[in-house]
Order: sequence, then C-alpha cells, then structure tokens
Amino acid sequence: MSVLSDLEARSGSTCELCTGTNNLEVFEVEPVSISGVDSSILACQTCRTQIEDAEQMDANHWRCLNDSMWSEYDSVKVVVWRMLSRLKSEGWPKDLLDMMYLEPEVLEWAKATGEGVAEADKIIHRDVNGVILENGDSVVLIKDLKIKGSSQVAKQGTAVRRISLDRENAEYIEGKVGPTLTVIITKYVKKI
Ligand SMILES: [Zn+2]
Repeated sequence: MSVLSDLEARSGSTCELCTGTNNLEVFEVEPVSISGVDSSILACQTCRTQIEDAEQMDANHWRCLNDSMWSEYDSVKVVVWRMLSRLKSEGWPKDLLDMMYLEPEVLEWAKATGEGVAEADKIIHRDVNGVILENGDSVVLIKDLKIKGSSQVAKQGTAVRRISLDRENAEYIEGKVGPTLTVIITKYVKKI
C-alpha cells in the first residue's frame, strides 16, 4: 500500500485537519527522517496552502483544530500544535494549546520548525524610550541608582559600557558601574 492509500484509510479520505475533501494530498510533517504514514498527514488544498504560506492564513478556517487536536496520530497533533502556535495572538488558539498534551518527543518534533516562537514571545530588552538593547551595547543611566550590596550610588548620566542582557528577564541588564558589576533595570537606562 502507498502512503496515500494508508492515509486515506486512516482518515476516511478526509483532511485530517479540517475534514475537507478538496484536493487531498499527502503532506509530510517536517523534519522527516523516514517518509511514511507516521510522518505524514492527509491534508486538503486549503490547509496545505495556509500551512505553507503564513501570509494566506485565514484564522477562521483553523477553528477546525478544535476537533483535530484530539487526533490519535502524532503527525496530526504536531501540525495542529504548529498552527495553533502560529495563531496564538487570536486568543482562542492559546486556550486550545493549553488543553493539548503532547508526549515530550512529540512536542520536540512540533517545536523543530520554530513555529510559535513569535517575536512577541521572545525576551526583548528595551530602554526607557523603547529602543531595543543588545549584548555589548552601551547605555547611560537616566537617574541615580543605588548599587545593590554597597553604599555606592551611580549618578545619573553615568555610562555603562558593554552591557549583558538577563536572558530570563526583559527588565534586567547587567553592566559595570565603575569596577562593580551590577544589575540595572532597563527602564532606567538610555541607549547611547
Ligand atoms: Zn483541510
């Protein structure tokens, strides 16, 4: 049997995402180590087009994920997870994502394409004016800051060179004020 006929058999010849029947084809769920039924889904043209081209996304079409998220097949769950992640800003997909359970190795597969790691979810450090800060930037303090664990005060206007970003918290950067390495809150600095 071919992959196509196997997929047709397991899905009853309907799209495994939206149950549509328009131009069904095998869709391989990247990254594919071994081609076959386990790494593929049967998907209609509407779904395939939107999976491949985020510009053509129609959020309403993907309400179908409400049902297909309960599929017993890992390859289907991976695509559902990716599409929900892509649509997360709509609100409802996030609720569905919260309800979804993927085995650790399936979740790893789902995350492999970087879907859902939207700009908004990344930790971005910004200075008082909203300018993005990066490792190695120089900033200037916009108010006097007490240096934690010492009696020293760093004066407004002090330059802090070669800052490093706190990877877990967008509000904190680290930098040397004089000889002391200290944590500084991003809203009290201005990039120079
Ligand atoms: Zn479909």
